Amino acid sequence: MNNSFDPRSESVLKENENDAKIRPALFDQFAGQDKILENLRVFVKAALSRGEALDHVLLYGPPGLGKTTLAHIIASELGVGLKITSGPVLDKPGDLAGLLTGLEPGDVLFIDEIHRLSHVVEEYLYSAMEDYTIDIMIDKGPGARSVQISLNPFTLVGATTRSGMITSPLRARFGINCHLEYYDSNVLSGIIKRSAGILNITIDDQAAMELALRSRGTPRIANALLRRVRDFAQVVGDGHIDLKIAQYALDALNIDKRGLDQTDNRILKCIIHKFKGGPVGLGTIATAIGEEEGSLEEVYEPFLIKEGFLQRTPRGRMATDLAYRHLNASKYDYSTLF
Ligand code: ADP
Repeated sequence: MNNSFDPRSESVLKENENDAKIRPALFDQFAGQDKILENLRVFVKAALSRGEALDHVLLYGPPGLGKTTLAHIIASELGVGLKITSGPVLDKPGDLAGLLTGLEPGDVLFIDEIHRLSHVVEEYLYSAMEDYTIDIMIDKGPGARSVQISLNPFTLVGATTRSGMITSPLRARFGINCHLEYYDSNVLSGIIKRSAGILNITIDDQAAMELALRSRGTPRIANALLRRVRDFAQVVGDGHIDLKIAQYALDALNIDKRGLDQTDNRILKCIIHKFKGGPVGLGTIATAIGEEEGSLEEVYEPFLIKEGFLQRTPRGRMATDLAYRHLNASKYDYSTLF
């Protein structure tokens, strides 16, 4: 049996009933990201008092940090409807036109992975965002003509893990930009306890902190770990999660002690074993481990730097002493002496 736990696997990422229950529905239930929440509360309140649609919002940050959740919250706090789609799904301007014309005044349209919109669809979005109009083609062949139609004022909430891939014209059309950060373990432990309460799981403070420390700063991983550890508590223990059962389950699941996932570890191993700890350029690391340079820079690297495993220097990336200790690696490669 393969016991390894991949937080990015389909089964973990898939929405299920419990996810809907534990997803915060209002600003007050959303933990962390204080600055962003403080600002969003003001903008929502101001839009409501003017009776206008909220300005378009761009949310960026690594997966699982709460971008979709914030889109839901914005719509509920505004008291409007929410339509959800994603960049890769909208492959024709017609698909987007259908969605836009169906929006009620003030509604929120959430486009996940907005950096993956095709150029034509993206350009089509510009006039919709700017002055709430779109051009649609009527008839085909020589009689074809374009007609401009007005849309109800709406708020576009775009989410991306790759802010560098958003074109400048699209970026310029968002009035509100929010960069979500990784969560610290105290906030994550609070999120775990809240989720446990909703799912009727009892968990000790110490156990919640142990899970938080191994969650890669990410609420989605924290919630997924809680559910997996609950299974162990039910089968091996009496259902209650204490520190002992949490550690037992996390070890059985092969969860890295510092919460790093497989790609994080591959990056560190590559720098240490193939490039003597660095400095080495990001492009070289990307080629060596077969990942995209952009996702290394925007999804993996920020967490490794924040946790002190990686250093960014003018000459490239370097593994820190902590990374060596984490991987039980030696700084000195004696094989070169003989
Ligand atoms: P993203 O869209 O950024 O990938 P999601 O919004 O889908 O992430 O969040 C993943 C899960 O993590 C959600 O199901 C939600 O329950 C939980 N979550 C995210 N952010 C928070 C938060 N700040 N407080 C509590 N739970 C959160």
